[in-house]
Amino acid sequence: MKTWVPDARNFAYLNWKQVDALPRESTLLVLPTAAIEQHGHHLPLATDTLINNLLLGHALEKLPPEMHVYALPPVHYGKSNEHIGFPGTLSVSAATFMAVLRDLGASVANAGFRRLVLYNTHGGNSSLIDVMARDLRAEFNLRTFALHGSGGITFEGLSAQERAYGFHANEVETAFLLASMPELVDRSAYTVNYIADIANPELLLPENAPATFAWLTRDIAPSGVLGDPRPATAENGARWRDAAATRLAAALEVMVRYPSQPAT
Ligand SMILES: [Zn+2]
Repeated sequence: MKTWVPDARNFAYLNWKQVDALPRESTLLVLPTAAIEQHGHHLPLATDTLINNLLLGHALEKLPPEMHVYALPPVHYGKSNEHIGFPGTLSVSAATFMAVLRDLGASVANAGFRRLVLYNTHGGNSSLIDVMARDLRAEFNLRTFALHGSGGITFEGLSAQERAYGFHANEVETAFLLASMPELVDRSAYTVNYIADIANPELLLPENAPATFAWLTRDIAPSGVLGDPRPATAENGARWRDAAATRLAAALEVMVRYPSQPAT
């Protein structure tokens, strides 16, 4: 898999003596989590994993060199059962996903490290990431953190409808790929599908509402797209990538400085 993580920030490029020499209290390890799953007719299966690596790699470039922050190899497979029925989706169960994170957390804690951030770019993993950040904190006394997607930036230029219901293989994801690996984007194969309409608010919504329905993509989006990729541009992708990297880098710096012992 292509990587944008700088070699000097790639944990798996170190040997064990170099790892042993890292300061245990202040080193922050980043565990990326994403997915290999259908992304419509126009984007590759690895979209979430590539975006994770793209944004994280650019964020790590911005950190001061003396700051000890390393990217672990990503957990490529996520809980993607909302995309079952589409060839190419490779999903693991919630139990498997959480067990992998727990075992990796145990390895990090056994090596004496204290700070671990779970950086996730696949929506189907989000609730599990929040569970595991707390469980790893409780079980291994690690300082654990959760970091999601683009770090909460405002995507300037996005329509209100796309902002609310562009979930998957949408304008933002397409723009990130156009800015980084345009050869993997089939611009002749865009499809459009919205799961809800902001102009007609319903009581029962797919996401982010008090009353939701559990959706499977095949029920509501035959092409696999949730959103409208057509307005995506490489220029916006590069702008949003840089804004996200700046925000993610700022979050990582805060995590490095976060007190390792509870205040007394
Ligand atoms: Zn995606």
